[in-house]
Amino acid sequence: MANTPPVDLLRELPQVEELLRCPQVSALEPLLPHAVLAGCARAAVEETRRALLGGESRSVDVGAIADGACARALAHLRPSLRRVINATGVVMHTNLGRSALAEEAVRAVQDVARGYSTLEYDTEAMARGSRHNHVERLVCSLTGAEAAIAVNNNAAAVMMVISEFAKGRAAVVSRGELVEIGGSFRIPDIMALSGANMREVGTTNKTHLADYERALDADAAMLLKVHPSNYRMLGFTESVGVSALRKLADKENARRVSTTGEADEVLVYEDQGSGALVRLACFGDYAEPTAAESLRAGCDLVSFSGDKLLGGPQAGIVAGRRDLVARLKKNPLARALRLDKMTLAALEATLRLYLNPDEALRKIPTLRMLSEPADAVRSRAELLAEEVRRRLPEGCAEVAVVPETARAGGGALPLCDIDTHAAQISFLRGSAQDCERFLVTCREVPVVGRIKKERLLLDARTLAEAEAVEAAEAVGAYFAAREDAGRSAS
Ligand SMILES: *Cc1c(COP(=O)(O)O)cnc(C)c1O
Repeated sequence: MANTPPVDLLRELPQVEELLRCPQVSALEPLLPHAVLAGCARAAVEETRRALLGGESRSVDVGAIADGACARALAHLRPSLRRVINATGVVMHTNLGRSALAEEAVRAVQDVARGYSTLEYDTEAMARGSRHNHVERLVCSLTGAEAAIAVNNNAAAVMMVISEFAKGRAAVVSRGELVEIGGSFRIPDIMALSGANMREVGTTNKTHLADYERALDADAAMLLKVHPSNYRMLGFTESVGVSALRKLADKENARRVSTTGEADEVLVYEDQGSGALVRLACFGDYAEPTAAESLRAGCDLVSFSGDKLLGGPQAGIVAGRRDLVARLKKNPLARALRLDKMTLAALEATLRLYLNPDEALRKIPTLRMLSEPADAVRSRAELLAEEVRRRLPEGCAEVAVVPETARAGGGALPLCDIDTHAAQISFLRGSAQDCERFLVTCREVPVVGRIKKERLLLDARTLAEAEAVEAAEAVGAYFAAREDAGRSAS
């Protein structure tokens, strides 16, 4: 009977000690502590027990269980977080670490990681300093803000701002901006977590100024604008810009002072999402508004990510009025969400590159990849194709350079089709799926491309020149592994 536990089979399961005596497992004794190996053996037995009970397996193969224990053990020895070659053409690929850092930022991280640093030490005052100072001045110079603070990521920044200024009060937000960004960041949830009452106004596609106006009672503490990030509404739509919200807030604040005599103001805050410190001219009207533009238009505060269009480390930056930022710095969340020295070093070095916008475009990988002309990408795709061809055994595949569409990713510029070029591999032996699996699962440095119509595409936009050669080597290794497998089978 299918549901009866296969008791006899369970009795055949090996003891942990027996597994540890298997040659492939005992060979690992010098590399790993006994307790770790024993744990892996136990987990492998447990996995088989579950498979037997669940009816997924009907036999006990001690050798296979020992192999399973070895695989678990070996996983301890190989870094889990490691470099990847991004041949997807998605520049700010969230699964692949979003933004690669500029060399300047990498060096800054190394410098402070290796030894002690001025993290909270003011060398001029020869006294305790604040870790916020390292990036604040730069953010202010680059955005025109009076003050700024950086925390762990923009999700944290949004939560901190709403919690400080709208906890127990109402935050007014358009129904068209109640977005989910991915990775379970949803505006209504963040709102609830921050203790603010979300006051939705307007409709999904249209929100008018009058909608906000009607929502402004004494309880309202904030007009919140959220960048729609990775989605856009087209057609019959309307939303209210920052400058109109500013005027509305000013009017309401004047009314409150005159009626209650109290300066209990409504703030205008924009979650910019990706944000930007320079306008990327190559994207024309699609270019994301910069933090400076939103502040000039009247935001009291803006916040944006450090590792999206900014091209730095994971961080969330809040910039705006000095009195408001001073309150944020005192919020316990600022302590809980504070940045570590390595991130601060990377962020500071990245921000410094923006002092010269041309330099920023050249040296910050995210900006360079997004703005590189398609022709330049094509020559790298040709190099890649040539390197792949050189490593192909006769008659295995055909390689061509094809025009393709790359994406910004990271919730930025979702409507922008970025012209790019890819090396396209059409398989005469093996298959695109098989090769893709090899490139990701069998390589020390995985190569991530994409499949289109049974062909493997390696997009050159997100590849550095040296990586193009590595990617070609990986494809060569796939065909070599196939030939080896073929030979040993015959
Ligand atoms: C990406 C994004 C966030 C979250 O930023 P993280 O830095 O990833 O935490 C918040 N809001 C918007 C609109 C975003 O696009």
